[in-house]
Amino acid sequence: MSKLNDLEIELESSTSDVDVPKINLMGLDRDAMEAYFASIGEKSFRASQVMKWIHQVGVSDFAEMTNLSKTLRLSLSENAEISVPDIISDNLSEDGTRKWLLKVPGKSAIEMVFIPEETRGTLCVSSQVGCTLNCSFCATGKQGYNRDLTTAEIIGQVWLAKHLLAEQYKTDNRIVSNVVMMGMGEPLMNFDNVVSAMKIMQDDFCFGLSKRRITLSTAGVVPKIDELKEACPVALAVSLHAPNDELRDVLVPLNRKYNISELLAACNRYVADSQRARITFEYVMLEGVNDELEHAHQLASLMKTVPGKVNLIPFNSFDGIDYKRSSNSRINRFRDILHNNGVIVTIRKTRGDDIEAACGQLAGDVMDRTRRAEKFRQSRAEKIQ
Ligand code: SAH
Repeated sequence: MSKLNDLEIELESSTSDVDVPKINLMGLDRDAMEAYFASIGEKSFRASQVMKWIHQVGVSDFAEMTNLSKTLRLSLSENAEISVPDIISDNLSEDGTRKWLLKVPGKSAIEMVFIPEETRGTLCVSSQVGCTLNCSFCATGKQGYNRDLTTAEIIGQVWLAKHLLAEQYKTDNRIVSNVVMMGMGEPLMNFDNVVSAMKIMQDDFCFGLSKRRITLSTAGVVPKIDELKEACPVALAVSLHAPNDELRDVLVPLNRKYNISELLAACNRYVADSQRARITFEYVMLEGVNDELEHAHQLASLMKTVPGKVNLIPFNSFDGIDYKRSSNSRINRFRDILHNNGVIVTIRKTRGDDIEAACGQLAGDVMDRTRRAEKFRQSRAEKIQ
């Protein structure tokens, strides 16, 4: 055989061996799933069938999808997959809160948390590996940023939690009744993937959660708030944390781009055509920083301009951070001023802090692409010296 023939054979076999990555059906919302089946010459009702198998029944092996033809099952197993992040660790808090550390490609890890309460069970889901926003009091911010999560990695958290909690609670009843996009990352900075994942959460063939049971929390990416209203109008929470721009510029640096008045205008547009909808404004209580009497009065004035309620979050500390949690008496005083000025206000109960699962403590393991994590470590080391 001539050298040329050898080469041809080699080329042929190498092209046929080229690994075409399998498409992960976990991450396809209804439109994407229908488009996928159309692209392989199948009818659109296959989308409902397969979504039901994946998300309701919890099947990740095509062989088990008994209402699909054998040929289709075989071709799906050759070209597609159903995969979710691997679990690195699984911790149960004394108060029932459960936190998982999940491995994602890129040598990183993310966290998700389940918070059981008497009348509901809330899953707190991550949207990015790290975060770009660098809020001064947030552990995730200190870790820097690696990348956005894919839709499959976001909805994969809900999928995993649903099945792991069914084992823990020995029931298939709806244990995850609410989802909050309040884990690691800024969900509106990973808009498309987060919206697709929230559509899968709402789909009747998947998790069937109503839009009121899904809350997206944002530090205030103003143009995306308007887009969210069009694309997927779920409940909105806004991380306000300061009642004036001077202070908010420091605590939430994104404020330098979209200030409080622009943010509140976007909030008003978000709820404009709904009588009942309210925005939740999150306000972390930092001793001596944003918890003075004047701050409470300023916040009460702001709240007269937007249909909302305030959720005071006692600051959760983490290694290397200088802020302190406001004392209970200061938190109560702050709440009373708001309340006396007609603002609806609640204090968030701290859950799961024995396993570092409380708000703002989620840090995962981020292979930082910014220099932020390094800088934070350096500044801590300097302080210790
Ligand atoms: N990036 C989004 C989603 C994160 S949600 C956002 O900013 O809203 C996490 C919530 O916990 C936010 O309100 C965040 O500001 C708050 N948080 C962050 N660090 C915290 C801490 N150390 N203690 C208490 N709450 C914190």
